[in-house]
Formats: sequence, C-alpha cells, structure tokens
Amino acid sequence: MYLDLLPRLNIYRSDLIPADLSINHYPALDVAAVLLSHAHLDHGGNIGMLREDIPVVASPESIVIMKGMRDAGIASLESETAYFSPRQPSDDQGLYLSSDRSKIYQGRTFCSTEKPCEALITFLSRRPGQDGRTARKLLPGRCCCYDEAEFPFGISAHPVDHSIPGAVAYMLRGESTVAYTGDFRVHGRRAEASRKFIRQAKEASVLIIEGTRAGPSEGERSSEESVREACLKAVEDSEGVVIADFSPRNFERLETFKDIATRTGRELVAMAKDIYMLHSLQDVGGSCSTDGLRIYKEITSRSNRKWETEVVQAEYGDRYIDHATIRRNPEGYILCFSFFDMKHLLDIKPQGGTYIYSACEAFNEEMEIDFRRLWQWLQRFGIKPCGFSLDERGDVSFDRRYHASGHASGDDIAQAIDEIDPDLIVPVHTENAAWFEETFEKVLRVEEGKRYEL
Ligand SMILES: [Zn+2]
Repeated sequence: MYLDLLPRLNIYRSDLIPADLSINHYPALDVAAVLLSHAHLDHGGNIGMLREDIPVVASPESIVIMKGMRDAGIASLESETAYFSPRQPSDDQGLYLSSDRSKIYQGRTFCSTEKPCEALITFLSRRPGQDGRTARKLLPGRCCCYDEAEFPFGISAHPVDHSIPGAVAYMLRGESTVAYTGDFRVHGRRAEASRKFIRQAKEASVLIIEGTRAGPSEGERSSEESVREACLKAVEDSEGVVIADFSPRNFERLETFKDIATRTGRELVAMAKDIYMLHSLQDVGGSCSTDGLRIYKEITSRSNRKWETEVVQAEYGDRYIDHATIRRNPEGYILCFSFFDMKHLLDIKPQGGTYIYSACEAFNEEMEIDFRRLWQWLQRFGIKPCGFSLDERGDVSFDRRYHASGHASGDDIAQAIDEIDPDLIVPVHTENAAWFEETFEKVLRVEEGKRYEL
C-alpha cells in the first residue's frame, strides 16, 4: 500500500492490515463480485488480499488452477486466491502478521461460469494431506453457478482463446452493455471461440479491451501451428536430451510438444505439479489430459508434497521416470523443464542436448539476468540453446519462430474493435494506450483506483 502496488481502497482482508496501517479512510467500494477472466497471476494474483466475503466469478478451469496452485505451490499471498490461511499479529504491537496455525484454512466463495460439477465441489472442499490427525483442515467457501447468484446487473461469460485453459471474456448488461475481452488472441487452437465472442460483443456500447501487443504488428506472425513445425524441426535435428521450456499452465503448448514427442519417438516428461494440475482439470471435464505423459521423479523431500503422494503417485505411480534412466537414454525423452528446474541437470548430468525456449521474450532486466544464468547452465552441460541466444556483450535476443504469443497482435486488436464498433473504448493491460487514442475515436484512459460511471 505504501509503495502504491495496491489501489488505495478499503476492500482488503482485515487480518492482513498491520497496526500501523489504516485503510478506513479509503473508499469502501460496494463490490458485488470480482470477474476473473483467467488464472494468470497478473490478473488473479491480488485476489487473495480481497475481503473474504467478496465472491469471485470465474470459469471452472480457472477455479481449479487457482486452487491447484495453492495446493502444489509455495504459500504466498499471490497463491491464496482459492483459500487462505488467516493471519494474526505475533508481536505485542500488532506489526508482524503471521499465519495462525491453530486455525483452519478458509475457502473463498466462487460463482462458476458453468454449473459446478461434483468433482469441482469435492476438489474445493479438501486439501491434500488434511486427513492427518494434526493436519489443518480446509473450510470450503460456497461454490454456485453464477446464474443463481444475485448481481445488480446481468453477467455472461464467453470462452476466448488465450495461453491458459479456462480464459473467458465477459458481458455486463445494465443501463448500458459493457464487454470485457480479458486476455485474448485469435491465432491459437481456440481462435473460433474468440471470433464468436467478438461477434456477440457487437451489442456492447462500451468495450474494455486488453492491449498487450497494441501498436503496429511486427513482421511475420507465429501461430501455434507454425510453432509446432519449428519445434518439431529442432527436436528432429537434436542429439541427446531435449528440454522444452514453455510457461507453466500453457497446456496448449504441452499438447504441441506431446505431438512432437510422438512424431520423434520420444516420451514427454512433465513435472509432478503439472500432472497434479492436469489431473484436476481433467476431473472437471476440461480439454486437458494426462494421457501419454511421463513424470519426472524429483530428488526432493516428499514431506511437504502430500498433493504428490496422495494424488500423483497414487494415480500415476507407474509413469515416473528418474534421472538415471534419462541419463542412460537421453534421446528417448523431451523434458518439460523451466529455468527453475535446471538444478535437476545436476542429477541427470546430460552430455549435450537441445534446450528449446518456447515462451515470451524477456521484458525486464531481471528476466535478462535469468537468461544469462540459463546460458551458463546450458554451456556447462554442452546443451545447444534454441529460441534465444546471447551475443558476446551478453545481450539476449529471441527467435520468434519458437513461440506464439497468448495475446492478439495490434492488427487483430484493431480488427476486433472495428467489428465490435463500440461507442467507447477502454484500453487496459497495455503500455501503449496512446496507440488506441491515435487509432480510434472515443478512447477512455482509466486511472487505477478511480471510479467511472459508464
Ligand atoms: Zn494472461
């Protein structure tokens, strides 16, 4: 709050407010619900800080991803979206807030954009490992269908194509109709869903639209299909082990690599936490599947990985593959590792191989530093990088053929706006709002924490 990383509003959980911070004089908004477009952290990462009585509208897949991330990830405020551990002061001045281990985890209320199935309710109602005698239990929040909830305006959700399952756009109907795209693209496997939403959004007078790639479109465009071809070629040309690095939960890219693995006579090896997520998504009837995947057996302590022992090991115990097996037959596998999994190379000890970087370009200095580190790791094991390179000055450059963005290009954004033809355009999620103003009439640039009536 002091650093302006959160809007100065009185909408946060009271157990998170230390004694030296008062939020009572900030506007207390009457929030009927949060509409979450998809489960990427730059969209949902601050939900955990919101007052616990505020319901979250989200697709069943987004709900599963948020819950799964908390189950299988590191506990942090950013991952406390589906359920949280209440804090309490642990010093006399009320300045240091820590998790109260005597209290049970508290689940949030969700309004699912589809009727919640039994598997979703069950998944939300328990935490792996909670059956132990002293283990902390989870008190689930309510989960209903958004049709059954009372909102002061009509809400409808519309699936769109993005780089994570369960992405939706929304339409709000009150005195005027507002369409919000969420993050979207029209060049992935679900492009038709985005096109359908664009057709439906014609009735909207206000369009809130993302603009990650707003601006003139850059040269040749990659699609999921062209990425598949480029990566297939890279794998065919590889000797030794192949590492495929794509962003976590980009399960469409995982499918792409699964197909490449089949064509090249290799097996695709995923991390246990990805299998946990895929298994949970598969249970709620999404498009994801664990079929044909092997699981990397990490050298790690299993005491904090009840999600792995209770779910992944129990269901897929025969799919595990260890470092020694990969070392003996490196050409038999494609490993879904990211930069943070490089430590496992110390166990596998590969001699040569290929690393395919198939994710977004570095967009800040920290990421560039990570790429220099990654370069050193690859050099150490004689692994050839593909998709990025480093020049002698240490500057990183990327090869766009190996990644298709999760976001619509400038041309596609302009085309969507032309087709929807709204009375007012509200660009969000962009560093180039000026482009909208230069290209279109009636653009409203919104400021954080300010109230607008549409
Ligand atoms: Zn996103």
